[in-house]
Amino acid sequence: MLIESIGVILLGLVLGSFLNVVIHRLPLDESILYPGSRCPACRKSIRWFHNVPVIGYLVLRGKCVACGAKISARYPFVELLTAFLFWGAYLGLPGDGIQAVNQFRIWIFILIGIAVTFIDLDHRIIPHTLSFGGWAVGLLTCMADYRHGAWELVGASVAGFGFFFLFGLLYEKVTGRVGLGGGDVNFMGTIGAFLGFGGIWSSILISSISGSVVGLLMATWSKRRGEVDGGQDGVLRTQIPYGPFLVFGALVELFFGVSAWIGL
Ligand SMILES: [Zn+2]
Repeated sequence: MLIESIGVILLGLVLGSFLNVVIHRLPLDESILYPGSRCPACRKSIRWFHNVPVIGYLVLRGKCVACGAKISARYPFVELLTAFLFWGAYLGLPGDGIQAVNQFRIWIFILIGIAVTFIDLDHRIIPHTLSFGGWAVGLLTCMADYRHGAWELVGASVAGFGFFFLFGLLYEKVTGRVGLGGGDVNFMGTIGAFLGFGGIWSSILISSISGSVVGLLMATWSKRRGEVDGGQDGVLRTQIPYGPFLVFGALVELFFGVSAWIGL
């Protein structure tokens, strides 16, 4: 058990390190395999021993050896977050025993979720590679899901996508503004394909509550600093990416099975 836990954590750290590359390069349409890691400031290649997850960052004390540019603490954070979620999913999730294939599926969803979160934070987009790609992987592996039937996953992915699509359309008709990005709509399909109807409901519920709270806090904060540009509806105009909240809702469902508590 201990040896396996260490193995899972190491796997999470290594894949988290790979996610940092994906998060940086995928939105720029760069290859994620070649060339190897480089300093974003001076473009110098990073030696392999400085590229060891978390430890490399600590050895370098958060600075590039070549140019001294600060390396964002987000790199080790993403590595640790991935390792932590991998380990949590390995220890067992509500409604599932430890089944190798299901485990693998859940890890893929965790990787997609982390990449979506940080790419959306940086660029306000969710790339099709992650949303439609994730949707496809979720459906192709749905037979290996021991917690949901395959048909539930197919139905939930279509329903989640359809619901968000119609909601976005309605919102735009009523308010004249784009409320939901296309990426968010597509990503609902991914959530349904991995987590079923419970995932859809929890994701919508938790993301709208947490998104509203954070949106209000940010609006209040920027109003205090006099940053809201014109208009009494500063709250609605504060642009916050919605993807991270959808991922948060999906992960809460994954780890705590919230939809079952409230009888959904
Ligand atoms: Zn550098």
